[in-house]
Amino acid sequence: MGNAVKNIIILGGGSAGWLTAGLIASEHGIDRARGMNITLVESPDIPIIGVGEGTWPTMRRTLKKIGVSESDLFKECEASFKQGAKFEKWVNGTADDFYYHPLVEPLGYSDTELFYQWKNGEYNTSFGDAFCFQGHICEHGRAPKLITTPEYSGIANYAYHLNAYKLGEFLKKHCINKLGVNHVIDNVLKACSHDNGDIAALETENKGLLKADLFIDCSGLSSILLGKHYGIPFISKRHILFNDSALAAQVPYREPDDAITSHTISTAQKNGWIWDIGLPSRRGVGHTYSSAHTSDEQAEIELRQYICHSLGEQRSAELSLRKISFEPGHREVFWHRNCVAVGMASGFLEPLEASALVLVEMAANRISEEMPANRTVMDIVSKRYNQRFLYNWDAIVDFLKLHYVLSKRTDSQYWLDNVSKESIPERLRELMLLWRYQPPNRHDFPYAEEVFPSASWQYVLYGMGFNSSQRPTRKAMNRSALSDKYFRETQEFAARCVSKLPSNRELIDKIVQFGMQPV
Ligand SMILES: Cc1cc2nc3c(=O)[nH]c(=O)nc-3n(C[C@H](O)[C@H](O)[C@H](O)COP(=O)(O)OP(=O)(O)OC[C@H]3O[C@@H](n4cnc5c(N)ncnc54)[C@H](O)[C@@H]3O)c2cc1C
Repeated sequence: MGNAVKNIIILGGGSAGWLTAGLIASEHGIDRARGMNITLVESPDIPIIGVGEGTWPTMRRTLKKIGVSESDLFKECEASFKQGAKFEKWVNGTADDFYYHPLVEPLGYSDTELFYQWKNGEYNTSFGDAFCFQGHICEHGRAPKLITTPEYSGIANYAYHLNAYKLGEFLKKHCINKLGVNHVIDNVLKACSHDNGDIAALETENKGLLKADLFIDCSGLSSILLGKHYGIPFISKRHILFNDSALAAQVPYREPDDAITSHTISTAQKNGWIWDIGLPSRRGVGHTYSSAHTSDEQAEIELRQYICHSLGEQRSAELSLRKISFEPGHREVFWHRNCVAVGMASGFLEPLEASALVLVEMAANRISEEMPANRTVMDIVSKRYNQRFLYNWDAIVDFLKLHYVLSKRTDSQYWLDNVSKESIPERLRELMLLWRYQPPNRHDFPYAEEVFPSASWQYVLYGMGFNSSQRPTRKAMNRSALSDKYFRETQEFAARCVSKLPSNRELIDKIVQFGMQPV
């Protein structure tokens, strides 16, 4: 077949660009017979955004597939273990207002309607802590594994916190040296088109024309190919998700051996929320907020007050902050003609639940797995791709909005606006109505590979005090003995983990010194 897809150009060398290059090259790069050729071009002048420090457990599969050593990731990317998120002050803002969204399903999740049993039982603890051990180990700052556990395996499911700049460098080295990705450092000036409207080449400042059959736009917020060249409209989600600004800081520990938190802490503020991510050498702390509801100055005051608790007033006041603005939303389609956008070039909603990099992984995997053999079939692949990813973006919008809709905070217009009916997407409104009478289940989410499975929805719903009235089904009724057993087993396992697992810092120090057992 003519017009075979052999040459791929990836524009952009941020996390999206290098993850995409790695995933495609590890699957197709060695396909010498087909003559697949992958080139990544990045600007010497335009820095990467560099703030994506929280990931999902999918990153373990991705990195394993790309072929990097997990021990090297810890050594070179300042990685630490992430076991979910702790949400503080999202419901009413009081000191004891918190819940966990862990990365492990509740024990017995598919056997019985745990929520009803929890509601009727005398467990005297949150829904998450009743049936999932992970919140317990996070509270004690424990790691999800032992030094003897092989790379990429865990006793508890886990993801990473990492330094985004170092991740980019780490992947770059591997992609170029081990996977044969060509690397061009140059500014792309514009895209040149074939008569049919496909992109023929990228015109660069110094290296002339870079020709290819498929162009992957990973150019970040500037969305050079999909947004600027093709003019694909941007669909704003600002009317649903109000945050459009962030102030980010790198916060030193008081002492070099201070504990490294084993989860992301997300603390609600008057007009947004603060993320707090522990890396071995520092914390990444930032305030994301709505510019329609507060000023940069006020957001800065709240961020410095937050940091002040751990660092003291003077050091907190001296920290430099970086301001980032973004429009929450995504492109109308993601794959147009012979160009597909991945990462910030395709859209960005907000940092809550670290949903951006997981979407990069899903996108790059899908492109790689469905790599069209030739231009003739590309439109079939792109049509399906666009349908699926529009679903993914909408599902993420709904899931993120859920955190705001369930809040009972009334201390600012921000929280009041967040529960206004017109700001809640129709599908979410429907699901929440349905869930008053039945807990979320797999029928609510049609795909095998959902960004957030039904257990995640349950953790947030019941963590924030949502109530589902009881249905007299066999699964729901008369199962208290079973849920008592799951409760007991969870508490016993949590206690064993807390006593046996090393602290996050202890394990990371050992990994950096000795490495883990390779797979
Ligand atoms: C405040 C904030 C917090 C976030 N937190 C998280 C988080 O915790 N978890 C998460 O998953 N995600 C998070 N994200 C999103 C995450 O940062 C990005 O998804 C991720 O870094 C990927 O970015 P990117 O590679 O798409 O873009 P970038 O990192 O911006 O890379 C763009 C690349 O394109 C290149 N480029 C641009 N123009 C040209 C040109 N003309 N010629 C050549 N090259 C060009 C640049 O040089 C650069 O290499 C956050 C985002 C923000 C704004």
